[in-house]
Amino acid sequence: MEQKMDLIDLRSDTVTIPTPAMRQAMANAPVGDDVYGEDPTVNILEEKAAHLLGKENALFVSSGTMGNLLAVLVVCSRGDEVIVGQAGHTFLHEVGGISALGGVFPNTLPNQADGTLALEMIENAIRGDDIHEPRTKMVVIENTQNQCGGVPIERDYMERLGRLTRKFGLFLHVDGARIFNAAIALHSSAKELTRMADSVTFCLSKGLCAPVGSVLCGSKEFIQAARRYRKMLGGGMRQSGILAAAGIVALDTMIDRLADDHQRATILAENLSTIPGFSLSKGMPRSNMVFLHVDRAVFPDLKLLKKKLEKEGILIGYSGPEEMRLVTHYWITDASVAHVIESWKNLHAKG
Ligand SMILES: *Cc1c(COP(=O)(O)O)cnc(C)c1O
Repeated sequence: MEQKMDLIDLRSDTVTIPTPAMRQAMANAPVGDDVYGEDPTVNILEEKAAHLLGKENALFVSSGTMGNLLAVLVVCSRGDEVIVGQAGHTFLHEVGGISALGGVFPNTLPNQADGTLALEMIENAIRGDDIHEPRTKMVVIENTQNQCGGVPIERDYMERLGRLTRKFGLFLHVDGARIFNAAIALHSSAKELTRMADSVTFCLSKGLCAPVGSVLCGSKEFIQAARRYRKMLGGGMRQSGILAAAGIVALDTMIDRLADDHQRATILAENLSTIPGFSLSKGMPRSNMVFLHVDRAVFPDLKLLKKKLEKEGILIGYSGPEEMRLVTHYWITDASVAHVIESWKNLHAKG
């Protein structure tokens, strides 16, 4: 049986279901016990991931949250400090895990409109040897930066950030949940963007469509240590090759097509922003996300608006009290985009 998505679900790219090719690969995957390091499919996925990100080694983990947490646990001891963006997923949406489980102190800096953290601010935030202060160990940067509009962070900035962290002996972790979206948007490669990073997490289960999992990449020693912490957190899995098989299809076939998602996000943005009551709150999309400001004078009831769209089979997310987020992905086709634009126009006509 081939499952398709019935709804036009623009809430997130996490809603993507696996493709028929993925299900086929999952059904046929050779497996073993991954805690013993004996699952051949997991091993292939990890090798491919490490190669793509230009790192020595990689670790298949259950989620991006786990990947980011592992990186912090490996690098920091209790009382150490991590510099992270105020708009960063690690600060906002990872349940405070670095503090709860690692005893690690987040030093949050404001993200600039382009998603970056100002290098001077990072430098000023780094602590010295003062006995009163926690020790700064690490910087976490998100690419693409979701809350700033799904913006890709340029290679030049990543290089300068890497030089800064090296100069001060800090560890640089990239939360690259959507690093392949960034690479496609910048006509670059994930490897190039993360060249200066000591570790990177990326998601298989967002735009790349795999059902489960992220991959953490880094040096051999780093991954060895992360593997221990993964076990500690209860993330040691057994025949996880069934899941990794979908991840391999994702890496082999789903990266280049992300350009289509970006193109469709642009078409949505161009059309929806011309409809009275809506404007682009974060500019033209730079990847697969459209952020729309809703004028409350035109549409006072956002719940009603959402309901009307649901009647048309369209699901959208709200990212603020007056802001919608529409995320394109594999299951959003040209026909879906046309239907959304048409429904949006009618929505307005009916008031
Ligand atoms: C989705 C996401 C993660 C990881 O989320 P999980 O749901 O734990 O897989 C991390 N960082 C960013 C920027 C994300 O968008």
